[in-house]
Amino acid sequence: MARISILAALALAASAAASTAAGAQTASPPAFPPHQAPGYYRFELGSFDIIALLDGTHPFDATGLAVGAKPGEVAELLARSYLTSPVEGGFSAFLVRTPGKLVLIDTGAGDLYGRDGGLLVSNLAAAGITPDQIDEIYLTHLHRDHVGGLMRGGQVVFPRAIVRVSREDADFWLNDANRRKVPAFLGTMFDGAQAMLKPYIASGRFQPFDGTAPLVPGITPVVAPGHTPGHRQYLVESGGQTLLIWGDTVHVVPAQFPDPAIAMKYDTDPKAAIVSRERAMAQAADKGWWVAGAHIAFPGLGHIQRTGKGSYAWVPANYSLNRIGR
Ligand SMILES: [Zn+2]
Repeated sequence: MARISILAALALAASAAASTAAGAQTASPPAFPPHQAPGYYRFELGSFDIIALLDGTHPFDATGLAVGAKPGEVAELLARSYLTSPVEGGFSAFLVRTPGKLVLIDTGAGDLYGRDGGLLVSNLAAAGITPDQIDEIYLTHLHRDHVGGLMRGGQVVFPRAIVRVSREDADFWLNDANRRKVPAFLGTMFDGAQAMLKPYIASGRFQPFDGTAPLVPGITPVVAPGHTPGHRQYLVESGGQTLLIWGDTVHVVPAQFPDPAIAMKYDTDPKAAIVSRERAMAQAADKGWWVAGAHIAFPGLGHIQRTGKGSYAWVPANYSLNRIGR
């Protein structure tokens, strides 16, 4: 009886093994995750630690939004990069750890672009940082894809941070009388800026700045109007190294580096935006600065190369598992 049982058990085991083998031949491989790994990227600049943080990505109508391009030019430039419009663009923010303060530059889109944004806090957490550790937030401008991360689900995200932006952008987007000065589709920018800043204004933590003095040692605003009246870039300097966090100086890398004279319908003053872009590109290229862009493919960090008279190329940072800039 015992012998029969052993034989039966062996037969059962053999048939189970056969069915597992047959199953392995026909079953699908496991599904891949719908998202990338957490979007943060750490690098060093002198004695500063910096983390690029991804809030999300959003399809950008590069051909429809271009202003001043030659007919067919944007589509042709996109094709050179194997892209067609709409082009997926990032919403990135940059966290700078100076010796005295933790400073966040821009906050992404938060809830204001539906499911395209809103990853900033989870990516901060992945990097080991909580929102209450942020001391100051410097906004490049008050468009809603930069202020949207200040509130989530109607709640203040950063309970301690002082929020700063240029006086010109504060005066423009927080004053409803200016709505008539911009195309109707930019009306939501007033709504977004006012809703996101309201509790920070109420608690005395919204502090617009004048001039170009450093806001903390090593972070200096750079006047770069056009995309908005008070658009600012931030020059971050430490240990002889320089990074220009330039906000919305470029929206479409494959088009606006080769032809910086292509502007965007979102620009309040396209001519001024072109001047600001050309100046930033020339300076960064000539001085070898690092550049970080809010809408450049994550981590949005790289250098700028001259490719001809008035034309440039973006040179993305070489991916490093550990850190770069050393
Ligand atoms: Zn933007």
